Amino acid sequence: MGDIYVVAEHRKGEIRDITFEMLFKARELCQTFSGRLTVLLLAGKASGFADELAKRADRVLVFEDDRLETFNSDLYKEMVSRVIQEEQPFLTLMGHTSWGMDLAPALSITTGLPLATDCVDIRESGGRPVVIRQIYSGKVFSRVSFKESPGYLITVRSGAFLPPEDAETTPGEIERRDVPADLPEARRTFVQFVETGAGEIDITQADFLVSIGRGVGEEENIAVIRELADKMGATLSCSRPVVDRNWLPKFHQVGTSGKSVRPKIYLALGISGAFQHVAGITGAGTVIAVNKDRKAPIFRVADYGVADDLFKVAEALKQQLP
Ligand SMILES: Cc1cc2nc3c(=O)[nH]c(=O)nc-3n(C[C@H](O)[C@H](O)[C@H](O)COP(=O)(O)OP(=O)(O)OC[C@H]3O[C@@H](n4cnc5c(N)ncnc54)[C@H](O)[C@@H]3O)c2cc1C
Repeated sequence: MGDIYVVAEHRKGEIRDITFEMLFKARELCQTFSGRLTVLLLAGKASGFADELAKRADRVLVFEDDRLETFNSDLYKEMVSRVIQEEQPFLTLMGHTSWGMDLAPALSITTGLPLATDCVDIRESGGRPVVIRQIYSGKVFSRVSFKESPGYLITVRSGAFLPPEDAETTPGEIERRDVPADLPEARRTFVQFVETGAGEIDITQADFLVSIGRGVGEEENIAVIRELADKMGATLSCSRPVVDRNWLPKFHQVGTSGKSVRPKIYLALGISGAFQHVAGITGAGTVIAVNKDRKAPIFRVADYGVADDLFKVAEALKQQLP
């Protein structure tokens, strides 16, 4: 068996959470597969990421070059596949993100290694990795095994492995290398980051989400809940029907066709708890549900529940706030 490599992901000067999630899982897998943990960092000159990553891995393999400052699938594919071919890691993990979805299939072609995508768990069987993937919109978990190979590629779903806040840190070594002189020209060029518009929010980063479902009744009622959320310092999210009716933009949507979130508190108002929705809150801390139907499935996943009208509860909460 052997070593595990994680491709670090970063954006706009920050290491993305998916990197720490993969490192947390990879550390556990290193014990299972008796290997060392390397994080591969491709970044701009003096990115400053290596020290932070060295706390979570045995080795940080760093290539810093201005051409690598932003993700470029041509250059990243070239660099990562050269590292894989030279060092032959047993397992290479990437995020199932816009980076990984672009990079991983191309790497599988160039290296000839098998790839499993969008995995929510990685286990071991017979000395090989076995991955768990969700199919049929999260209704069924499938177990996927690989044919024997010298190495394996896996993309990991964001939020599938959540490191505890006090995750163990280890002082790893930092190995800096020069970008190969014969690195080909990229066919694609990074132009700019385009924000999705004024008022854009990132529900995946929120600590406290107040989430509304179809039970809110009509668009006009959203203002009441928005006001409550603002007062509580929470971010507004929603279920899919709210987006389908154009009551809120898509970036508010939680679930399999929306976003996976992991707030400390998730307050679900008028959400039934369909599996496509609940699949997006598996990483949430405390789930509080308000639904007038006491048999609503959301109560099965809620830590606290109120079987009552959501507007009554919203009003009562508002009264408690300054
Ligand atoms: C391929 C696919 C992907 C999908 N992806 C997603 C996804 O990413 N996210 C998602 O959310 N859904 C998704 N869905 C839809 C999902 O199946 C459900 O239809 C949806 O989650 C239901 O949303 P809801 O709970 O808001 O509405 P409903 O199921 O209609 O539930 C509304 C709830 O509000 C309660 N209620 C009504 N009035 C009040 C009131 N005044 N006070 C308190 N409670 C009240 C009702 O009792 C009910 O339980 C997907 C479906 C498919 C087929």
